[in-house]
Amino acid sequence: MSAAKKATKKAVRKAAKKTVRKAATRSKGTAKPAKSIYEFGKKTDGSTKLRNLLGGKGANLAEMARIGLPVPPGFTITTEVCTYYYSNGESYPSTLDSDMRKSVANIEKQVGKKFGAAKKPLLLSVRSGARESMPGMMDTILNLGLNDKTVEALATESGNAPFAYDCYRRFISMYGDVVMGVQPLHENDHEPFDACLDELKKEVGVELDNQLTEENLKELIERYKALIKSRTKSAFPQDVYEQLWGAVSAVFGSWQNERAILYRQKYNIPAAWGTAVNVQTMVFGNTGDTSATGVAFTRDPANGEKVFYGEYLINAQGEDVVAGIRTPKPIAQLKEEMPKAHAELETVRRRLEKHFKDMQDFEFTVEEGKLYMLQTRNGKRTGLAAVRIAVELVKERLINQKTALLKIPADSISSLLVAVFDEKALKKTKCLTAGLPAGPGAASGKICFTADHAEAVANSGGHAVLCRVETTPEDLRGMIAADGILTSRGGVSSHAALVARQMNKVCVCGASEVVINYTNRTLTVGKTVLKQGDDISIDGTTGEVYAGHVDTAPSEVDQVLNGNKKPSSSYTYQLFKQVMDWADKARKLGVRTNADSPAQAISAVALGAEGIGLCRTEHMFFEGDRINYMRQMILASDEKERKAALKKLLPFQRRDFTGLFKAMGGRPVTIRLLDPPLHEFLPHDESSKRELANALGVDIEIISTRVRALHESNPMLGHRGCRLGISFPEITEMQARAIFEAAAACYKLKKPIKVIPEVMVPLVGFADELKNQSAVIHRVAAEVMEAKKVKFKYLVGTMIEVPRGALTADEIAETAEFFSFGTNDLTQTGLGMSRDDAGSFLGKYKDLDIMSQNPFASIDAAGVGQLVEIGVKKGRSTKKDLKLGICGEHGGDPASIQFFHDVGLDYVSCSPPRVPVARLAAAQAALK
Ligand code: PEP
Ligand code: MG
Repeated sequence: MSAAKKATKKAVRKAAKKTVRKAATRSKGTAKPAKSIYEFGKKTDGSTKLRNLLGGKGANLAEMARIGLPVPPGFTITTEVCTYYYSNGESYPSTLDSDMRKSVANIEKQVGKKFGAAKKPLLLSVRSGARESMPGMMDTILNLGLNDKTVEALATESGNAPFAYDCYRRFISMYGDVVMGVQPLHENDHEPFDACLDELKKEVGVELDNQLTEENLKELIERYKALIKSRTKSAFPQDVYEQLWGAVSAVFGSWQNERAILYRQKYNIPAAWGTAVNVQTMVFGNTGDTSATGVAFTRDPANGEKVFYGEYLINAQGEDVVAGIRTPKPIAQLKEEMPKAHAELETVRRRLEKHFKDMQDFEFTVEEGKLYMLQTRNGKRTGLAAVRIAVELVKERLINQKTALLKIPADSISSLLVAVFDEKALKKTKCLTAGLPAGPGAASGKICFTADHAEAVANSGGHAVLCRVETTPEDLRGMIAADGILTSRGGVSSHAALVARQMNKVCVCGASEVVINYTNRTLTVGKTVLKQGDDISIDGTTGEVYAGHVDTAPSEVDQVLNGNKKPSSSYTYQLFKQVMDWADKARKLGVRTNADSPAQAISAVALGAEGIGLCRTEHMFFEGDRINYMRQMILASDEKERKAALKKLLPFQRRDFTGLFKAMGGRPVTIRLLDPPLHEFLPHDESSKRELANALGVDIEIISTRVRALHESNPMLGHRGCRLGISFPEITEMQARAIFEAAAACYKLKKPIKVIPEVMVPLVGFADELKNQSAVIHRVAAEVMEAKKVKFKYLVGTMIEVPRGALTADEIAETAEFFSFGTNDLTQTGLGMSRDDAGSFLGKYKDLDIMSQNPFASIDAAGVGQLVEIGVKKGRSTKKDLKLGICGEHGGDPASIQFFHDVGLDYVSCSPPRVPVARLAAAQAALK
């Protein structure tokens, strides 16, 4: 256990004890919440409107109770109490203890049982529930209220002593683990309660937990208690209110456990939201064969199909289904085993969708034939399922187009574009086995059995497939690092499936023929034995598993877009098109792409790009021989030599631009003049210096001297951008000539393409910089038109990417015909943070909540955003219709796109694969 986790556990235990003695009295941080507890049951205070206060689980329990679904009564302690707890030295509002006792009394009245009583004892479950669900990240306690006395009552009253003692031993182990911190002592240690259980099973010669007799269970209980005593020096508490306080404190404490923090970081959930705690009457799915427990989805969460989807276990408690200890049965089978409960569930399924107007993921328990609902929430789904469900809900008239568009996380549209396995490659490979398809897509990578190994493989640039018997929240890091996840146990609601769905990871779970041996580091299927580090390939759309590497091919959507598949034969494509059509109707922002080659441009246009917002010309200099001409140009000792080298580069550039213009078929193309520091083009190690010296027929010393001369201490702030063109106007001249000659050529084609090139000057901070460069560009344009005898329109504009450019945008706009915000450099220069080095400390900044997002991925709206706003206002104060775009990485980020929409930009430009995401995000921005 990590130090952080240990510290949290300790704090929780301390808090539990402290609170029992005296429910907190001090109040120095946030004010006491007006109402700490909301009840549900016969009388229900809450509803989905109070989601922020009650958390998702609490709000929906209240809502289900309101619409008359069978919810066991209980109450929710609000998220405000959690916030209070953390800002008041881990203490509680002074009235919480008495409020909780009142609410427990109200439950007692409704169910006719008494908490802690020797007759008809009331048992409770205690669960977390944040505003956004965080599956498996926080703590849960079941069967609370059992002690040496109440367990006897439960045994007598249920007429089922093994059931009662089974509940008690489960409770002690859960409480011992979660509240009292009895956990593995080191990484390779076993779960101590599991070890105890396994030992006893061995001693009495049984295989399954439910084969243990009443006597065995009683013995186990004694061993569990002894284990707790020896580890903690405290006895397992018999006082039920002490138990309740311990559990409540543990759940609040688990908000700050390591995995919850990691999860929040990944999904940008603010720490300040806190979790609620739900205390609810226990119902039992483990009283015998007339009881069951399960989880179900109103539609298939992996592909979105409208089928009742889920699984259950007869004679089990909820945790058993998710934990993957016994393999659950598919819900369809319940129709045969418990037809009445199945029919009731079908009705509940329809009512839930009609009421919540979305796919639901719910938990239920059947106790002695009677159905109870324990939870419902909007089901997590893969990107593919998100799209399919939204489109089909519109067809079913449950929601309208606007709601559908807002329901699909913009990023998820890209999961319709993920690679599939290449059909030819698949034919050559033998399918090893299959499991449940839990996260669509194709992944090939090295077999990794641990999160650490997966991280190491990914960090060294490789691809990992994390292979586990089943995953637990401890595996989260590995799941993030891996390309795919394979488990041999667990169904559609297992941890692996849940997390993969949310992360849009390729996942195959419950591949039961796969035998994983952690000790020998082998993965065996029949006679095939694979070792750690061997290649494996998994198809999360079909569930198939292959030994070795399998090549991938473009997605179905890509295949249709490239003309290799008919639209009518791909439902995925039809879904994609439907959403994109709706989005295009709704959005105000244009969507362009950043592309430097015709191939990139063609693929971006197929994905809906309306133009090129940024062609980085420097990328064109790295191909083939050009780098040598480029180097020749940089190493030239005078203007004449430089011009000679530039002359050689001119035809290459002209051909590139012609290709781009043709690929874009008359759509706008913004071409940026040379931007990076020149030394980036020069060789730095001895052997490449020698190679260049040979190619140029000069002495290696000349190369070394020039490289040394070009060295800059801070190249990002050095001789780059328009500063290059100002120092060496012949570079600007050559590039402008190549652009305009390419445009002229397009006008002269048999089928002329009427290109309107947009020439963009980088890194402008002074109006005069742009004036200087514009003069060169305009002169060359006039010369080309004269020489080629064609007239064409063109624009000269600038990037706004240094603060001074934004602050003096009104002056710059006198010369500029358009602006494109270069938010990569604007973030770098606005924050004074190197875009290449910030990674080394941004993690810490996120941990400490100094920054909730990486500002290079999602715009820092409060800071850098102001510079954009100033640039927009000032620019348009000079030219009302000044065309404004953005071409930094933020152009493909949904949250940033919302910001750009709000400040009134005309378009965003992003990398080709992000184009569909940007189209959808732009629509969402317009609809919000
Ligand atoms: C920018 O700075 O945002 C930009 C698009 O230019 P580059 O990333 O090429 O510096
Ligand atoms: Mg830049």
